[in-house]
Amino acid sequence: MAIPVGVVVESCPGERRVAMVPGVIAAFKKSGVDLLVESGAGREAGFPDAEYAEKGARICGSRSEVFAGSEILLQVRAPGANPETGEQDATMMRPGQTVIGFAEPLTALDSVRLMADRQVSLFSMELMPRITRAQSMDALSSMATIAGYKAALMAADALPRMMPMLMTAAGTITPARVLVIGAGVAGLQAIATARRLGAVVSGYDIRPAAREQVESLGARFVVLDLEASASEDKGGYAKAMGEDFYRRQRELLGDVLAQQNIVITTAAVPGKKAPVLVTAAMVRRMAPGSVLVDIAAERGGNCELTRPGEEVEEGGVRIVGPLNLPSTIPYHASQMYARNIATFLNYLLKEGQPKWNRGDEIVRETLVTHAGEVTQPRVRELLGLGVEAPQAVDR
Ligand code: NAD
Repeated sequence: MAIPVGVVVESCPGERRVAMVPGVIAAFKKSGVDLLVESGAGREAGFPDAEYAEKGARICGSRSEVFAGSEILLQVRAPGANPETGEQDATMMRPGQTVIGFAEPLTALDSVRLMADRQVSLFSMELMPRITRAQSMDALSSMATIAGYKAALMAADALPRMMPMLMTAAGTITPARVLVIGAGVAGLQAIATARRLGAVVSGYDIRPAAREQVESLGARFVVLDLEASASEDKGGYAKAMGEDFYRRQRELLGDVLAQQNIVITTAAVPGKKAPVLVTAAMVRRMAPGSVLVDIAAERGGNCELTRPGEEVEEGGVRIVGPLNLPSTIPYHASQMYARNIATFLNYLLKEGQPKWNRGDEIVRETLVTHAGEVTQPRVRELLGLGVEAPQAVDR
C-alpha cells in the first residue's frame, strides 16, 4: 500500500515557499508514495493545484484533511520554525506521524518538547550532516545559495552606483568594490553574483580553507593577521571564538571595510547568535552611499546597527537586514528544497514504509523526537537530558 505523504500551505506570515513542487513528485513516487496537497500550497511559489494534480497528487480542500490523512507531513517551516502558527499545527499532529521540515531545534526548545509530547517523529532539515552522501539532502546549503544570490542583487539595487566598469563617451565608470564577509555557501554565491555583475570583489572568512574557494571565483581573499587555525570544527563549520579574537578581528576589518562600496555579511556559527564583526564605528568610516547587506540578520546580525527586517541609515550608509531571503525567490527555493526533501524521503522509506535505525548518522543527526522522547544528542544536551538517546528510535 502506498504511504500517504502530505504537503500543506506554509502558514507562517510572509512564507512563500512550498515543501514539494510538481516537477519533483516523480522522484519519490517510485518509493510508493501517495501525495496529498492542500489546495493553494504552491500558489505563492508559482505552482498551481492543476500541476500537482497532473503529476498524480490528490488536492485536498482543507488543511486538517491533509494533517489527518498523512502519515508523513512535509513542511518548509515545521513547528519551531513557525512561531506564528506552528503550535496550532502541532495540535493537529497525531502520535506516530512523521514530520520533516526546518524546525530550529537548537533554539526552539519548547517546540521540541511539544513535538515529543505529541509523540511525533520530527526530522529537522537544519541538522542534516555535512557528509558527502547527504549532500543532495542538504537544504541549508540550497537555501543559503538563494540567500547569497539575492543579497548581492539587493546590494546592487540599493547602491547609487553601477556595478561594472564601463567605458563610455561620457567617461569611464569605475567598478563597485564589494567585500563579502563569511565565505560559506551563501557568501560564495554572493561573491559569484557580484562578480557576474562586474564588481571588484573580495572575500573574507575565518576558516583558512575558504581561501581557495574565494580565489577560484576570481575574487581576492582578504588575509587578516589573526591566529585562526582552530576556527573550524570537524563538520566544516566555523567555531565560536573568544571576545578577544572578535575584537582584534574588528580592528583589522575596519580598514578593509572603509574602502568598499558594498559589504555583504554572512558570518554564522551554527546554533549560536551571529558574531558582531562590524561595529557602528566601522560603519562610520565607510563612504556615504555605501551599502551593507547583513544576511545574518535573522540570527541577530553581523553588524551592530542591523535591525532585522528593516533598513537603517548611518552617516549615509544604508544597512539592510533582510529576513527569509529564500522566500523572496520562492519558485527556485521550493524546487531546490523539494529535491532535498524527496531524496531524504527516498532514503527513509524502504518498500514504501518508513524504516530507519539510529545507528545511521543521517538519522541520528536529523531525528529530533520520536515515540515521546527527544532523541537528537545535541538537543538532548541543550535540554539537560544527557546525551545518550533512548533505545526506542528504530523503526
Ligand atoms: P554558515 O552559514 O554556518 O556560516 C557562513 C560562513 O561564516 C562560514 O563560512 C563561516 O566560516 C563564516 N564565519 C563564521 N564566523 C566568522 C567570523 N568571525 N569571521 C569570518 N567568517 C566567519 O556556514 P555554511 O555556509 O553553511 O557552511 C560552512 C562550511 O560547510 C563550508 O566549508 C562549506 O563548504 C561546508 N559545507 C559542506 C557541505 C558538505 O560537505 N556536504 C555542505 C555544505 C557546506
